[in-house]
Amino acid sequence: MEFYGHVIDGHEVPSLDGATMDDVDPFTREPWARIALGGKADADRAVAAARAAFDEGPWPRMGFEDRHRILHRLADLIDAHADELAMADTRDMGKPIGQARHDAARAAWNVRFFADHARMSTADAYPMDSGHHAFATYEPAGVVVAISPWNFPLMQSTWKTAPALAWGNTVVLKPAEDTPVSSTMLARLALAAGMPPGVLNVVHGYGPESVGAALTANPSVDRITFTGESGTGRAISEAAARNLVPVSLELGGKGPNLVFDDADLDNAVAWSVEAIFRNAGQICLSGSRLYAQAGIYDEFLERFQRAAEAMVAGDPKDPQTQFPLALASEEHFRKVAAYLDTVEQDGGRILTGGMGPGWSVLPTIIVDAPPAARVCREEIFGPVCVVHRFQDEDEAVAAANDTRYGLNAMVFTENLSRAHRVSARLRAGTVWVNCFFIRDLRAPFGGVGDSGVGREGGTFSREFFTEPKAVIMQVDR
Ligand code: NAD
Repeated sequence: MEFYGHVIDGHEVPSLDGATMDDVDPFTREPWARIALGGKADADRAVAAARAAFDEGPWPRMGFEDRHRILHRLADLIDAHADELAMADTRDMGKPIGQARHDAARAAWNVRFFADHARMSTADAYPMDSGHHAFATYEPAGVVVAISPWNFPLMQSTWKTAPALAWGNTVVLKPAEDTPVSSTMLARLALAAGMPPGVLNVVHGYGPESVGAALTANPSVDRITFTGESGTGRAISEAAARNLVPVSLELGGKGPNLVFDDADLDNAVAWSVEAIFRNAGQICLSGSRLYAQAGIYDEFLERFQRAAEAMVAGDPKDPQTQFPLALASEEHFRKVAAYLDTVEQDGGRILTGGMGPGWSVLPTIIVDAPPAARVCREEIFGPVCVVHRFQDEDEAVAAANDTRYGLNAMVFTENLSRAHRVSARLRAGTVWVNCFFIRDLRAPFGGVGDSGVGREGGTFSREFFTEPKAVIMQVDR
């Protein structure tokens, strides 16, 4: 089994105490790699390397042009190694290889986009009447800790690190313990691209009382960007508050998907299947609460069920597989499976799906569940969709907003006025109309309520990863 270490100060290293962990492929349920298992000492060593690289190294002092060149080289290397990177994510979490390849292309795009964005950004000037002149500069914030989840390992790691790096920060990345490999591979590629030692460090291990907690408590850190569960976001916020460190939190979701009588049903069915069954529903943005209007409810539900049952389910490594017969880990499988046991107790009915082989749950559709049912309220993070019927727009909007989450929503309608009206009334960071999952990296991304704090993307990432400075000069004496 290949060994994947931490990457600290330009070297791939084992943990200081030599500890390792098995990396389990959830489809075969066998270990396929060995990973350095870090502790507080490893986390502190990684932060010290990033601190020194920021305080004394060339990266923050380089021009945008030079950083841009290195980041573009990294993006090219990600493309050149896309197959290995994609296979690492597939083996780590059971993501279908076709989707993992899509993620690898998106990872390269994250790096290119933020390199270009930083280089092309303008700064503000404020002409003053009083014989003075004011302008703003955007200076790198310092050492960034990026903590990422397991559902889009490589894509999320680059979404968090690329803007931080492009704006001249140094980074310590901690990937999720279930999906470590592609982050070590990313750091190896960054060194090969010419990124100076200590600029992108990777440290592996668990969150609570381990590497994650040590990183968030370290007083040498200037920014923490986190994606994961809302409860973890609270713990990280508390740790960051002690050092007055700004945090960006991208958290959980329970996305409503509204299908109106006037929707194009072919389009609505195709996107609704994608919205809840892509990546086996392990997407913060998934459309896990589906509301169909009374006039099309029966036809929609029948077509949605047929499309779910027609998905090609199988080995995640098989390019034909659309739906993986494995959730990300045994622990996660047990969590999702436990929700299925609550359906009947809470008054719902499983129309199709349920338990699959190994650590898998099949594409599952639930009907008749009252709004208070656990499957309607809690983030399951699996291939489980609860379908409801609604009569009119007011009822649909009220049901969609009846959640503590607010990451995203989908609306399917051919009526332009309704599309605007409903989008405006939904409490969500992103609303997709007649589509799902399409992103423009300039647009704000984040959630309201329990779905997050802050926004990233384009200039929103610049605001977070820099210290804007106002310079005011007397020009008329
Ligand atoms: P998680 O919160 O369990 O773990 C995420 C990361 O945090 C891991 O690297 C973990 O080791 C680390 N961690 C855990 N406890 C920590 C602590 N006390 N201190 C520091 N680090 C800690 O989440 P997960 O199970 O890996 O991912 C699934 C969750 O992520 C879902 O809730 C999903 O909705 C959310 N998610 C959100 C977005 C978004 O953009 N909003 C995107 C993807 C996933």
